[in-house]
Amino acid sequence: MKIPQISIVAPLYNESETFPMLVERINALMDSSPLAIEVVLIDDGSKDDTAMRIRQLALTDERYHGVLLSRNHGHQLALTAGIACAKGTEALFVIDGDLQDPPELLPEFYKLLKEGNDVVYAVRRKRKEGWLKRTGYYLFYRLLRSVSYVEIPLDSGDFALISRRVVDVLNKMPEESRYLRGMRSWVGFKQTGFEYERDARAAGESKYSLKQLLGLAYNGIFNFSEFPIKFMSRTGVLAILISLIYFITVVIKKLFFVQVVEGFTALLFVIILFSGVQLLALGIIGEYVLRIFFQSKGRPLYIVKEEIINREYI
Ligand code: UDP
Ligand code: MG
Repeated sequence: MKIPQISIVAPLYNESETFPMLVERINALMDSSPLAIEVVLIDDGSKDDTAMRIRQLALTDERYHGVLLSRNHGHQLALTAGIACAKGTEALFVIDGDLQDPPELLPEFYKLLKEGNDVVYAVRRKRKEGWLKRTGYYLFYRLLRSVSYVEIPLDSGDFALISRRVVDVLNKMPEESRYLRGMRSWVGFKQTGFEYERDARAAGESKYSLKQLLGLAYNGIFNFSEFPIKFMSRTGVLAILISLIYFITVVIKKLFFVQVVEGFTALLFVIILFSGVQLLALGIIGEYVLRIFFQSKGRPLYIVKEEIINREYI
């Protein structure tokens, strides 16, 4: 086969059910496209037969390139592994393996890339997910936007077409707690959005647990803003001011009125409130320390168990 211009990169975790549909749609896309395309499928330590299916496919179809991880590393690291292994010389098309991001959009993304953009990221116009999840996403992206020091586009996930030179930068970024959509924005160059309607999952349940989702949100906030730590010190200053004002009013009352009975309720309230503030402050510091701790270990981000690539370039 020809050296691929484009790599389609999709991480899969227990996606046995969606697998045949994914392959069918990507094959149709490749058959109709004049571009030289390879497909990098990453198995993120699935417990079903996803890994076996990937291996089979990569052995028999030279356009497929399998990357099997040693265990479940989570979506962001699986994607990191796939991006690092992909051979596409022009750009990488990052999609979810559950067909929520239609692969058929590649030609339109590619057109925008050719118009001089280095990153074409997808912006969700409409989501076909439950209202709770939708509201959560909506609020999170707006919060992140207001506190982040990098301009991270609203309502865009990892679904994007990324040029080779941006990919090379991403591959050189060693950070351990990864928030790829933020890192992608941080790199810079010319980036543009492409609006699309996010489909519902082709089959099965979401493979992101609530814990993983919250972890991702945390990485967004803590890795791309100084807001939490600033918020903490500002709250501290505010607390000191409030207590000073309180103290002064009590002194004035003492001076001008003969007898003052100060309530215990107020006392209790203040104690509880500021114990809470202190715990919050400690927790925020903890988040930073934790990140330094993990980074300082310098472990590899992910472990590739097996890479399956069966092709000869012409
Ligand atoms: N995924 C993964 N590792 C995980 C969780 C998810 O590789 O630990 C993959 C999953 O197979 C899918 C993509 O990441 O292809 C997005 O996950 P999912 O659809 O479950 O997330 P949601 O769309 O519900 O946010
Ligand atoms: Mg999904």
